[in-house]
Amino acid sequence: MQNLTDISVVRDVLFRHGFTFSKALGQNFLINPSVCPQMAECCGADGQGVLEIGPGIGVLTAELAKRAQKVVSLELDKRLLPVLAETLADFDNVTIVNDDVLKVDLRALLEEHFAGMEVCVCANLPYYITSPVIMRLLEERLPFCSITVMVQKEAADRLCAPVGSREAGAVTVAVQYYARAEKLFSVSRGSFLPAPNVDSAVIRLQIRETPAVAVADERKFFRMVKAAFGQRRKTALNAISAGMALQKADVASALERAGLLANIRAEQLSMEELAALCEALPG
Ligand code: SAM
Repeated sequence: MQNLTDISVVRDVLFRHGFTFSKALGQNFLINPSVCPQMAECCGADGQGVLEIGPGIGVLTAELAKRAQKVVSLELDKRLLPVLAETLADFDNVTIVNDDVLKVDLRALLEEHFAGMEVCVCANLPYYITSPVIMRLLEERLPFCSITVMVQKEAADRLCAPVGSREAGAVTVAVQYYARAEKLFSVSRGSFLPAPNVDSAVIRLQIRETPAVAVADERKFFRMVKAAFGQRRKTALNAISAGMALQKADVASALERAGLLANIRAEQLSMEELAALCEALPG
């Protein structure tokens, strides 16, 4: 098996296949030998099914395949298919699917490839689609037990920030509604070929059996969260009334009924307080 963290091996494979990196597809491949084994260990791949997004030249895929029962890797760039056929030739438990993670029917894919298996997600995500991918995996309530992904350090900090802290945003609330989020370890920019301009971190989302809080109308809850965090300098009162086209007096009385101060900001609200405010709002 080739050593896919050895730069000269990587350059040789890519050169022989005439491959050049696409910045638009977020192609920064891992060359730090300790990162992929660590990710594969932490994601709980052992004996399970693993869905990988963006295998690149297969450096993480190989570590997952050593541990998992089966790995299915979704790769959008068809130029990488012959590369992967070569680098993963030793594994008979890996299937590469040439598709877009944001467009493919994930439920059908899971049924086709992982019937009867526990499935986790593990990926070094292309950074240009970090939030849409994570939100798609969570919102569709696909039967994953966990999602372990490498993201930009700033995104990791935001996704894992406690709800009710300055670092939290609408995406923090959305992710933590569905999952328990934890930052596992940091990865420096020098761990990639080519090196990006930012550092990274690996986070793990353990999917909750039931959402963090009970809300009667999820769409209303997420509309309110988006509005409340959309204008961070404003109070929740002003941001929600502007963002949801509600009368200020109605939002003020909802805050009061939820036992919250009139001048509170979204970033000061806990998950339970956000849920209580949503229930108290009209509509
Ligand atoms: N896993 C490899 C590694 O760690 O070295 C590559 C990670 S690289 C950051 C992201 C990978 O995702 C690339 O292979 C890229 O072609 C692929 N990709 C980009 N957009 C995608 C999409 N919409 N669907 C599936 N794969 C995508």
